Amino acid sequence: MKHTVAFIAAGVLSLGLGVSSGSNVAQASQSISLATGGTGGVYFPLGGAMAEAWSQQIPDLRVTAESTGASVVNVRIVEQGEAELAMVQNDIANYAFHATEMFADDSPKESNLGMALLYPEVIQIVTLADSGIESVNDLAGARVAVGAPGSGTEANARQILMAHDIAYADITEHFLPFGEAVDAIRDGRIDAAFLTAGIPTAAVVDLGATHDVSIVPVDPDMAEEVSEEWPFYAGFTIPGGTYSGIEDDIPTVTVLAMLVANADLDADLVEQMLEVLFAEETLERLCDTHARGCDISLEDAAEAMPVPLHPGAEAFFERQ
Ligand code: GLU
Repeated sequence: MKHTVAFIAAGVLSLGLGVSSGSNVAQASQSISLATGGTGGVYFPLGGAMAEAWSQQIPDLRVTAESTGASVVNVRIVEQGEAELAMVQNDIANYAFHATEMFADDSPKESNLGMALLYPEVIQIVTLADSGIESVNDLAGARVAVGAPGSGTEANARQILMAHDIAYADITEHFLPFGEAVDAIRDGRIDAAFLTAGIPTAAVVDLGATHDVSIVPVDPDMAEEVSEEWPFYAGFTIPGGTYSGIEDDIPTVTVLAMLVANADLDADLVEQMLEVLFAEETLERLCDTHARGCDISLEDAAEAMPVPLHPGAEAFFERQ
């Protein structure tokens, strides 16, 4: 009896979808992954909220947000087909697509296509208020967390240090995700940590709950130099009050978070996902999940794409 019920249910399901559209048949019971970042960042919670919205609103689709080492590994994961979608930094997406910078010895990661730009990610150099580290130059000789292995943060740390004539040989570098980096600061095992993430970043808030934290400024002149060398950086000011105990505005640089989709992912599905992403209800949900979710908007989503748009995204943005 059970078998019969299951059989009928399956029959109804495929009939219903088959009638509505050919491409929906292929989507039935489809399970896809969204590569995000570490649990102390913003990709993971916002990616989780997006995955939930897509799973709830697109019939027979299940999207799972996976925790990863973030941007650089994410483009590799998508290229290898281990995830269909990823959140990545716009600079990293561009370097991957054109096989430059950290991808210079690699083949171009051309299967990572643009879906939507999302929100600013701020380069934050976190230390304790009494560490004596007040400028990027003070990092020379220090023990510094430079991000998880394969993170965009790590790429940014290397570039910002390089712009200040500081190489990894001049510091003791530690490859740590945000959560472990702030634990290491708390325990006195390291002196400072780079984090590239939407603000406020949970890991920094956590550290601030037990210690007096400070954020090392990137001097506006240096910010300009950095963005001349690597054009995806832009000057940015962390407003005073973003973190409790840090009342001054802090100059630094920013990049952008974006969504990429594997070129092989069905164009109709990508279009449908963008439809859901920019629906008012989803945007409200993302804004409730994290302050940077409130920055996600249709107006800014396709401007200055660092890689070609996915055909499904192209169709979606053309219709707007
Ligand atoms: N932008 C960071 C990176 O790719 C991750 C940020 C986050 O997890 O929110 O390294």
